Amino acid sequence: MQTPVPDYLHEVLDSLREDNSGETAQYIPELANADPTPFALSITTATGSTYCAGDSDTPFSIQSISKPFAYAAAIMDRGLDHVLKTISVEASGEAFNELSLEDGTNRPKNPMINAGAIAAHSLLVGKDATAAARNQRVLDMFSSLAGRELSVDEDVYRSELTTADHNFAMAHMLRKFGILTDDVHEVVAGYTRQCSILVTVNDLSMMAATLANGGVQPVTRERIIDADTARQVMSVMAVAGMYDGAGDWLTRVGIPAKSGVSGGLVGVLPDQVGVAAFSPRLDSHGNSQRSRRIFERLSSDMDMHLFAPS
Ligand code: GLN
Repeated sequence: MQTPVPDYLHEVLDSLREDNSGETAQYIPELANADPTPFALSITTATGSTYCAGDSDTPFSIQSISKPFAYAAAIMDRGLDHVLKTISVEASGEAFNELSLEDGTNRPKNPMINAGAIAAHSLLVGKDATAAARNQRVLDMFSSLAGRELSVDEDVYRSELTTADHNFAMAHMLRKFGILTDDVHEVVAGYTRQCSILVTVNDLSMMAATLANGGVQPVTRERIIDADTARQVMSVMAVAGMYDGAGDWLTRVGIPAKSGVSGGLVGVLPDQVGVAAFSPRLDSHGNSQRSRRIFERLSSDMDMHLFAPS
């Protein structure tokens, strides 16, 4: 259900419009050349009302915001115990593209960094599943979460795959350590396709609101993620969703969140709301500069902190 946009959301966007600091992600040619100007905000309540402002219909590739949702799918497909044997749940304290393996077990530190997300993609569907089945699993699940049929941006996919040497290198290391057992090219291609799914802020706030609502899509009422898995995913977002800035983020903003290099940022407040913002210029951590500031404002204006006394 789309409801009238409160003036407040427009005012939040307007107050941040002249912040033009940062730049689009430079290591993916298609993103480097993206229009840096779109700016949007969307909030969906756990009961399914959406409030939005700005360029809320502008599509962009989901990038790392895919990671918590694909992790949820991997847990439901393979069971939490099996997933935990492959990927840990500790803060890495490092950038999204660090290998960050745990001493002793060689598990990626968490599923929010690339190494963990590549491993999570390889777990989808079942042992020996085809690459096509994994790709379809992700697209179907994300579409159910958004409440509409999503598609892949083939240009972003090709652009990212031809420059994915870093992810290929990490995937080869994961295979050497026995964390990945599948074909490296297929897994990295599948993970890259997952990152290239096109969404709007309204899609993302609906996906986040599904987590906030314990895994039930608030508009279609379909249970997409079981409640225990939703809890696991939100917990890991709180620990590691903002990479090396996760501790600062959780203490100051207090909203479990996940960012992506195309400029999206989603946050979840359990039982309350899913929030999504979009602005392509990134700060030095690879998080959207203006989206980060939107969350800072919402948190302080509306006491949207997980640990705010009620
Ligand atoms: N697809 C991107 C990558 O693998 C995702 C990174 C991100 O959004 N932080 O590098």
